[in-house]
Amino acid sequence: MLNTQLRSFKRKLPLFRKPFRRFINYIDNNSPKGLDPLLPELEKEVWAEVDCLSCANCCKKMTPTFTSKDIKRIAAHFNQSPAEFTEKWLTKDSDGDLVNVKRPCQFLNLSDNKCSIYEIRPADCAGFPHLTKKKWSDYADTHKQNIDYCPATFKMVEKMVARIEFK
Ligand code: SF4
Ligand code: SF4
Repeated sequence: MLNTQLRSFKRKLPLFRKPFRRFINYIDNNSPKGLDPLLPELEKEVWAEVDCLSCANCCKKMTPTFTSKDIKRIAAHFNQSPAEFTEKWLTKDSDGDLVNVKRPCQFLNLSDNKCSIYEIRPADCAGFPHLTKKKWSDYADTHKQNIDYCPATFKMVEKMVARIEFK
């Protein structure tokens, strides 16, 4: 059963997807003053309200990209060679990045939404959803995609809309 947080996100998404995308385009093109220093404050509020363990939507509906460092590390954990690991679990996407063949991710424990390789998970997973990892505008396209899947990204944009003047 969907938890309340995810249910509320799925209810709001069709209503807010378009205006939120417009907002992301707007701030990408206009770089409002004071935006980047505001983001860590908003991110803190987001994580006080969002519980990833009751969600795991990214692990169920999306895929991380795997760097060669990730592959080496995770393959070694399973006593596999990087080639064996890649052959078993990964494929190339349209950008040539190595991604999971399966959704949900093969490492997600569906009974409790925990990652079975949490300590050695791909760097992309560790940084997801990249809310303040770089300047917001450097990740604008990623955020635009992520509002479709990630309640934390959705909430971040919701908070930004409330705090930043938008024409
Ligand atoms: S490796 Fe772990 S954190 Fe990353 S998608 Fe899979 S289950 Fe989720
Ligand atoms: S990062 Fe986003 S999609 Fe992933 S578990 Fe957390 S809230 Fe859900």
